[in-house]
Amino acid sequence: MPKLEWKLLTKKRASSTQGVPPGKEHLAWVTNTVTLIYGQREAVLVDTFLSDQQSKELLDWVFESGRNLTTIYVTHAHGDHFFGLKLLLDKFPNAKAIATTAVAAAIRDQIKPEYIKSFWEPRFPGQLPSQLVAPEVLKGDTFALEGEELKVVELGHTDTSHTTALYVPSIGLVVSGDGVYNNTHLYLAECDEEAINGWLRALDKIESLHPKTVVAGHGVLDPDSSPRHIEATRGYLHDFLASRKNTSTAMELYQTMLSLHPNRVNPGSLWAAAKASKPS
Ligand SMILES: [Zn+2]
Repeated sequence: MPKLEWKLLTKKRASSTQGVPPGKEHLAWVTNTVTLIYGQREAVLVDTFLSDQQSKELLDWVFESGRNLTTIYVTHAHGDHFFGLKLLLDKFPNAKAIATTAVAAAIRDQIKPEYIKSFWEPRFPGQLPSQLVAPEVLKGDTFALEGEELKVVELGHTDTSHTTALYVPSIGLVVSGDGVYNNTHLYLAECDEEAINGWLRALDKIESLHPKTVVAGHGVLDPDSSPRHIEATRGYLHDFLASRKNTSTAMELYQTMLSLHPNRVNPGSLWAAAKASKPS
């Protein structure tokens, strides 16, 4: 029997992109996934949710595990992955929130009141937790859960800069942060061609670990966490690079990608990427 186990909690929320062209309304949502890695007595949580309500539901879920939460690891500096920190830290005072130096610094910028007011509040009015905090800086690139090693994997630029995954060698688990998506349009609004190539290298790095399980940060409600999503994410990036070359307007790029990936959720993410890639 392996010493550590893991489980997921996935929650649906609205897309952060508004003004998406009509036609894909039934797919206009996105999930966030958090992972609890646990042993006999202790647990580590990877990422949190965005809204106050979902953060409370997350709290109950962690309580129900019956484990003592020691650490919350934040994979990257997007609010939908760390806004729930304060609530968890209040309820689990022995737990420590940690991230890499670069992620912790970016989060301190992200939670500045002017950025919350200009970016997040208009997109999720009245839904954000009232208090936001940044994680502490992890010294080194490993920490432990009941004596088993958990390893930070620097991914570089995936859907934002300085992203990371968390790797648990003893059970072949990679919690990919937003490195791998499952049946969801990738968030490419922060990516130029160089960044997309960085993302492709990040996928190679995850693959080189030969994981048995790969948790996608955004996916379906009941994900299979199969490593096959590494290749699917790679294919999407190649399609986007090719489609960008062969189209001239945001709408054309959007429609071309939709014809290649008609069933992925969150077309808003694609629309944001198309507009960033081809500003009119
Ligand atoms: Zn995300």
